[in-house]
Amino acid sequence: KAKEAGRARMTLYDASMDADREQRNALELDLRIAIESGDLTLAYQPLIDAATHAMTGVEALVRWNRPGHGPVSPELFIPIAETSGLIESLGLFVLRKACETAKQWPNLNVSVNVSPGQFRNPAFTDYVRYVLKQTEIEAGRITLEITEGYMIQNPQRTRQSIERLKGLGVKVALDDFGSGFSSIGYLRQFGFDRIKIDRSLVMGVNEDKRQREMLQATVALARSLDIPVTAEGIETEEQAIAMRLFGCDCLQGYLFGKPVTSDLISEMLNERRAAEPAARRHIGAA
Ligand code: C2E
Ligand code: MG
Ligand code: MG
Ligand code: MG
Repeated sequence: KAKEAGRARMTLYDASMDADREQRNALELDLRIAIESGDLTLAYQPLIDAATHAMTGVEALVRWNRPGHGPVSPELFIPIAETSGLIESLGLFVLRKACETAKQWPNLNVSVNVSPGQFRNPAFTDYVRYVLKQTEIEAGRITLEITEGYMIQNPQRTRQSIERLKGLGVKVALDDFGSGFSSIGYLRQFGFDRIKIDRSLVMGVNEDKRQREMLQATVALARSLDIPVTAEGIETEEQAIAMRLFGCDCLQGYLFGKPVTSDLISEMLNERRAAEPAARRHIGAA
């Protein structure tokens, strides 16, 4: 009897495994088609100067509206792209599109996420060089964001890749800092141009004393290496104030702006430009 029940469970288990695999295969196939037919898009989220609250840059975030299913989170499809050999072409699309788009915003920095699979590729530096040349973008306005997890797994390689990328003139940022096993020992030797504090930490800033102190210590750690720090996932005024107080020079989050189309970013820039002379006139008249 027990054996039979066991077998029944096995069968059920196998069936659900098959269903999972089937769904995954379907998703992978749709993703492949989306990449090939250019159906992925980029959204851009404002990066805000903590002191002036001016928009100084944007982070490019890939978006996929899967036919018949609606939007799929990059947190779901990026790992699938990684394991199915699609990350190369996806990453190339994102980088090229972001660089092309950046040309309409001469005063903005543009951050682009790089996944471990791209970074691991020995030819990655070559294709970054190629895209920079092809799009004629100033390398210094492009920041490549790499995640903490990858860095910890491959410290030697990471250091070499960062060196080569910086040789091209692009900036390199450490993304999601504090989400995993951050170590000051690692940070010092890599030459990151910027560190981004993970949203999971920022969220706790007004929770309790211990979380607040953890966060403060994490920012202090980055600052002690003279590396500028961005706080991501800012949703409230209190979080913005606290993160600035702790020493973050750049803020990102829904409080300042959600990821939007490039057209909307251009509009925001135009509005700001239009508002400036008016503000000056006002002061002059007072
Ligand atoms: P990330 O690089 O840490 O990007 C920040 C994520 O936090 C984005 O999610 C953004 O929409 C979200 N976010 C920003 N501010 C707030 C906030 O105030 N509240 C909340 N709740 N969320 C906020 P998204 O676009 O879903 O991307 C998730 C992750 O997927 C990214 O995390 C990044 O690791 C990866 N990703 C996104 N686009 C790309 C891409 O083009 N290439 C690669 N390789 N990875 C990407
Ligand atoms: Mg990022
Ligand atoms: Mg991040
Ligand atoms: Mg994050």
